[in-house]
Amino acid sequence: MTTRKVVIIGSGPAAHTAAIYAARAELNPLMFEGEMAGGVAAGGQLTTTTEVENFPGYKEISGPELMMKMRDQAEHCGAELLMKTVHKVDLSKKPFMVYWDKETVAADCVIIATGATAKRMGIPGEEKYWQKGMSACAVCDGALPLFRNKPLVVIGGGDSACEEATFLTKFASKVVLLVRRDELRASKVMQERTKNNDKIEILWNTEALEAKGENLLTHVHIKNNKTGEEKDIEANGLFYAIGHTPNTSFLEKQVECDETGYIITTPGTANTSVSGVFACGDVQDKRYRQAITAAGSGCMAALDAEQFLVD
Ligand code: FAD
Ligand code: NDP
Repeated sequence: MTTRKVVIIGSGPAAHTAAIYAARAELNPLMFEGEMAGGVAAGGQLTTTTEVENFPGYKEISGPELMMKMRDQAEHCGAELLMKTVHKVDLSKKPFMVYWDKETVAADCVIIATGATAKRMGIPGEEKYWQKGMSACAVCDGALPLFRNKPLVVIGGGDSACEEATFLTKFASKVVLLVRRDELRASKVMQERTKNNDKIEILWNTEALEAKGENLLTHVHIKNNKTGEEKDIEANGLFYAIGHTPNTSFLEKQVECDETGYIITTPGTANTSVSGVFACGDVQDKRYRQAITAAGSGCMAALDAEQFLVD
């Protein structure tokens, strides 16, 4: 069995940035890209979107192309990439053990960059209209021309839903927020901001049953779960904001996570509760969840790992 200085698990912007920095620091990193781990292809969440318009350096680039460029750069810098999913780690002693298929590698440092997966509801029409009006990221997709001055629908009652509904009012003619209960889960300040926004209409006790349209989404079929009333409402956009699932189950609680499974890092660093194990990207960030913040924290993780190996 070989021992590597640095093993990186994940393949989104955080993992690739960590790989670029670790390779340039001559740490010979081995990166596990995953095989549809967490339901996402190697390359991470951006492989599931079309245009990315907010990653510095590119006015417009497709998500898959951006990730391919990051992958090329990581390989060019000397990182070794394996398109395999890590199913288990042993972080109880050093060197750490990383397991995939029937194989094992030992590692002095582990960088976890396994991301998070946006929850979907699986309503009829979802497959047909995904990225044709339907999305799980308003901040990413909301500014696209297809949503300009159009009625949009957001589903959820948490801080994300309130934040995304508010954000979408910049572009939409109107935003309808579908809340399945008669109250919001969001923080008080977000609730007030949402309720006081003239462009947002909240439909309480309301669920989405179906996405409808032609080539693009045009309507959402909704039901009031108190009265049983059903109807179609106009919607050129339907945004899920019903939470994310961080991809941390393979860690089997060996690293401290919060109550929703996100890895806890020491603020301002990529340090986790286990010395020598670092985390970056969406797997430790439930607030910003952007490619550029993931990449930035990947840089931090590699620099923290480099320092750890020197100390
Ligand atoms: P992710 O991109 O989540 O990638 C993690 C990778 O790790 C995945 O490929 C996964 O399969 C792999 N993995 C998981 N578990 C394992 C394992 N056990 N072993 C090996 N591999 C594993 N952000 C923007 O800044 N601009 C945008 O325009 C934008 N658009 C978006 C559009 C959509 C539809 C979505 C869903 C997100 C969008 N985002 C956008 C958000 C952005 O994609 C994420 O913030 C970013 O990808 C997070 O990067 P990450 O490196 O943390 O991990
Ligand atoms: P949450 O888990 O807090 O909220 C998810 C919301 O989606 C809930 O209102 C839930 O309803 C609703 N929901 C879940 N499943 C369904 C479904 N199948 N159909 C309809 N509605 C559904 O997730 P968030 O992403 O909003 O927030 C995650 C964390 O990130 C929180 O701690 C939040 O505070 C934080 N955050 C902070 C921000 C900030 O400070 N600016 C911004 C964004 C997030 P119900 O309430 O009935 O369970």
